[in-house]
Amino acid sequence: MQKIETLEELVNALKCLPGVGPKSALRMAYHLLQRDRKGAKKLADNISNALEYLGHCKLCNDFSEQPICAICQSAKRDAKILCVVEMPTDLLMLEQTHSYKGMYFVLMGRLSPLDGVGPKDIHLGKLIQRLKDSDITEIILATNFTVEGNATAQYIRELLKDTKIKITRIARGLPMGGEIEYVDSGTLAQAVVERKTL
Ligand SMILES: [Zn+2]
Repeated sequence: MQKIETLEELVNALKCLPGVGPKSALRMAYHLLQRDRKGAKKLADNISNALEYLGHCKLCNDFSEQPICAICQSAKRDAKILCVVEMPTDLLMLEQTHSYKGMYFVLMGRLSPLDGVGPKDIHLGKLIQRLKDSDITEIILATNFTVEGNATAQYIRELLKDTKIKITRIARGLPMGGEIEYVDSGTLAQAVVERKTL
């Protein structure tokens, strides 16, 4: 039987999405081709636009269309406090609390040796550079309260132990194993207010 290479390539490409195996990739490909060709075109265009125009902010490492993102450019933010989060979704959650007015650094992941994610993969070099180039006096470690999130916070604390920067950790208003993305904004705002010095 002749293979349809174009279809096979599409299925293989869809498998790059997290949690998508061969079966669901095939189902998605059929859906896009058979039921939603317009949606498929839009998806393809949006992916290529995002790849072309979205990069990382030079300062906070979040996704940005500009070299420096709107938060990092804002004169209304407190440039002396830096909150370190794992993912852009965590930053969005903190912004939604309207209680934090400092700056951010987005690691784009967390230390996870078992998954092959080491210090280099979470942009710690960029974080250190960011600290050297600024007047930051306090770092709030707002990584998740998971095993990996705690290990990441611990690693960063060790890394910065010889600096004069005050290092705090958001309070455990969050449940053990808690991920910031799923916490309500009231609890999260309180966790920032009640942060503890490490
Ligand atoms: Zn930024």
